[in-house]
Amino acid sequence: MTRSVDVSGLVERARDGSPRAVARLITLVENASPQLRAVTAALTPFAGNARVIGLTGSPGVGKSTSTSALVRAFRALGRRVGVLAVDPSSPFTGGALLGDRVRMQDHATDPEVFIRSMASRGHLGGLAWAAPQAIRVLDAAGCEIVLVETVGVGQAEVAVASLADSTVVLVAPGMGDSIQAAKAGILEIADVFVVNKADRDGAQQTIRDLRNMSALADRGPDEWKPPIVATVAHQNKGIEEVVEALDKHYAWLAGGNVLRTRRLARARDEIEAIAVTTLRERLGDLHGDSRLDALAAQVLSGDSDPYTAADALIDALTAD
Ligand code: GDP
Repeated sequence: MTRSVDVSGLVERARDGSPRAVARLITLVENASPQLRAVTAALTPFAGNARVIGLTGSPGVGKSTSTSALVRAFRALGRRVGVLAVDPSSPFTGGALLGDRVRMQDHATDPEVFIRSMASRGHLGGLAWAAPQAIRVLDAAGCEIVLVETVGVGQAEVAVASLADSTVVLVAPGMGDSIQAAKAGILEIADVFVVNKADRDGAQQTIRDLRNMSALADRGPDEWKPPIVATVAHQNKGIEEVVEALDKHYAWLAGGNVLRTRRLARARDEIEAIAVTTLRERLGDLHGDSRLDALAAQVLSGDSDPYTAADALIDALTAD
């Protein structure tokens, strides 16, 4: 079972930049520790300062390589950086599976870089509440930049956008990526497009495809027009331009009310995810509970109907 930990001591050490404290706090999040409530309460006053940048795109497009290059670029600017590699689609545990996902050896000895991978552990909607809390740990630990790299495909790619202030969508030539991106609804979530592997044939075509598709997207005159940046991530080419595009996007976000709107939406999603998870857990606890049996009997006999019974169940769950 989980050992009881000194939450405030741990939070204090994390704020002092202790990588071990940060790692332990994220483990408490990932394990849905009973102490998570106290951890989150202790962290929240110190969070809200990080810029959260999501990176998404098909497997093999160069997300890990680009993340590593971006860490280098932000470190060169003196920023403390957190990296969270999340896999919303994987039922497997983190650590071993994702451990080598992020090609971060270059940063292993840098005390100003915190790297962590995380999987959903099969909890339904697990990452919806876990990822924001892990981001909060990195944020409270003084990371000015938190890079969230999604691993996995499909919905996972879109989910990152709801976690981030700015979302980078990566595509590469010859992967049919730009077309797939359009299908998966990924065009809409991009704040910055990166055409990685620009050293390969077809890069210019991919840029043209993206430009055409992007022009079709329904964006109003006051809306952000996502720039397209070409990179060769493993050679660090174009990375400064990505940082520049991200800075511009952030300035745009912060200049209007958009940053606050996005962060409010994030807070709403997080509260909702926690509430739904809590209710689901309580519902699970009710399995075999006599109240549920009694309600079922009433529905069967026609003394109640399923909606009224469900209302009664919700009342019972929230009264506990
Ligand atoms: P991920 O699955 O999206 O995280 O992709 P990775 O970062 O693991 O990269 C997949 C492969 O593409 C690796 O072998 C990288 O070295 C390679 N790669 C990454 N960026 C580039 C690039 O700009 N050009 C070329 N030619 N290869 C690259």
